[in-house]
Amino acid sequence: TASSPDLPITTAKNVENVVIIGSGPAGYTAAIYAARANLKPVVFEGYQVGGVPGGQLMTTTEVENFPGFPDGISGPDLMEKMRLQAERWGAELFQEDVENIDLKSSPFTVQSSERKVKCHSVIYATGATAKRLRLPREDEFWSRGISACAICDGASPLFKGQVLAVVGGGDTATEEALYLTKYARHVHLLVRRDQLKASKAMQDRVYNNPNVTVHYNTETVDVISNAKGQMSGILVRKLDTGEESVLEAKGLFYGIGHSPNSQLLEGQVVLDSSGYLLVEEGTAKTSVEGVFAAGDVQDHEWRQAVTAAGSGCIAALSVERYLVHND
Ligand code: FAD
Repeated sequence: TASSPDLPITTAKNVENVVIIGSGPAGYTAAIYAARANLKPVVFEGYQVGGVPGGQLMTTTEVENFPGFPDGISGPDLMEKMRLQAERWGAELFQEDVENIDLKSSPFTVQSSERKVKCHSVIYATGATAKRLRLPREDEFWSRGISACAICDGASPLFKGQVLAVVGGGDTATEEALYLTKYARHVHLLVRRDQLKASKAMQDRVYNNPNVTVHYNTETVDVISNAKGQMSGILVRKLDTGEESVLEAKGLFYGIGHSPNSQLLEGQVVLDSSGYLLVEEGTAKTSVEGVFAAGDVQDHEWRQAVTAAGSGCIAALSVERYLVHND
């Protein structure tokens, strides 16, 4: 449980002002603002994504749409800069996953495998994970042909002017497919069922777009490469006939949804039906006073580095106000 007696309280004070959980753009931005406000934030960076802190952008190459970098910046470089900025202003960083949180009584308790921290407030910024198909060659082609974000990668030279495919049949997949038609020569939508799950409006937009072909009853089996080792096609299977064929495509985008990393808060904070933290509209406030949320864990719609950073800023400023009012 959260109140394991064995772990020492090893941070600077007995009760910290704020604990920030997560080291993506939301967590580090919150850390920068909280540290500059002299709150001495304690940050649990986690290591779930690729065994390193930094969040989802550690898994990508170029980030072309984060303001301030006209020539683009690699995901890991951007995250290292955010980390250094948080550290420079005095955030205390621990490369540990939080394993337990107890929000039932104040001060709250946040616990990793190494330490237990008491705190007056929490900023929860644990992100979300794009659902993957787990294709046999997925790891080999991740970011080299397979992507989970059309807005992030659609305009990249790897995909521009090419035939692409999107897998999924809901709003996310149809949205991605339509977005990709701005750059792609043609887009195939690979749908397992015999119909689209997307809203009627999205379906109409797909059917009215001559650059999208919908393939129903179609399972995505694997990606295929050419002699140069580049992705050249997708092996698909028709679920009604069992027939397999290769669809020529230079890119495959997953539009099968995201899972918010909110498991630790289940039963303690109000989540929506998909597990996203519910915040009061236009704020970072969750259903528990003193607990704030930022980034993709509370955002099923925009999911961008800059929106995550913006919400991290709001969360830190909200903590500052909250602590003043509860002093
Ligand atoms: P994340 O980046 O998901 O970070 C969450 C952090 O929480 C991680 O560090 C994780 O280890 C930590 N964590 C989770 N659980 C725990 C725990 N129990 N204890 C401690 N820590 C924990 N967006 C753009 O704007 N431009 C792009 O070009 C772009 N490219 C992308 C490419 C890829 C391949 C992907 C997957 C996403 C891309 N995105 C891009 C989206 C962007 O990465 C996300 O919107 C953004 O990272 C969300 O930030 P976040 O801080 O909410 O969470």
